[in-house]
Amino acid sequence: MAVMKKVTPAKMFMGKLTYGADLLEELTELCRRENIHLGRVEALGAVSRVRLAFYDQQTREYQFFELDQPLEITKLVGNVSIKDGKPMVHAHVTLADEAGKAFGGHLAPGTIVFACEFILQAFEGPVFERGFDEQTGLPLWTMSE
Ligand code: ZN
Repeated sequence: MAVMKKVTPAKMFMGKLTYGADLLEELTELCRRENIHLGRVEALGAVSRVRLAFYDQQTREYQFFELDQPLEITKLVGNVSIKDGKPMVHAHVTLADEAGKAFGGHLAPGTIVFACEFILQAFEGPVFERGFDEQTGLPLWTMSE
């Protein structure tokens, strides 16, 4: 059964990331710095290399893969919630090469920013905490109705 909680838009930030920074780690660091425990993020730009993951539903393990080439971030979408007591950014990205061919997946550490413009929005609402989910093996939100 679906679970849904009311959240209220609060602070919004718009900015650019650091050339050469780790995309996921810098977004996470900004959330921790601004004390954002709940929210959403979107971004576009370019990376010099990317590291993504695909969750294998059979083995219940992430398969990581890397593309060591310049790519456009055509879309990054993610949310912010709590894991192990700290803000965690969960983001998926779609990237495109010089021919417009797209790649995508779960954003992992190891993706390096060439240029990146982002919007980060904080929400006020209940705590969304991640914990082990038996059905999927994933760290999903543990709240119930
Ligand atoms: Zn994911």
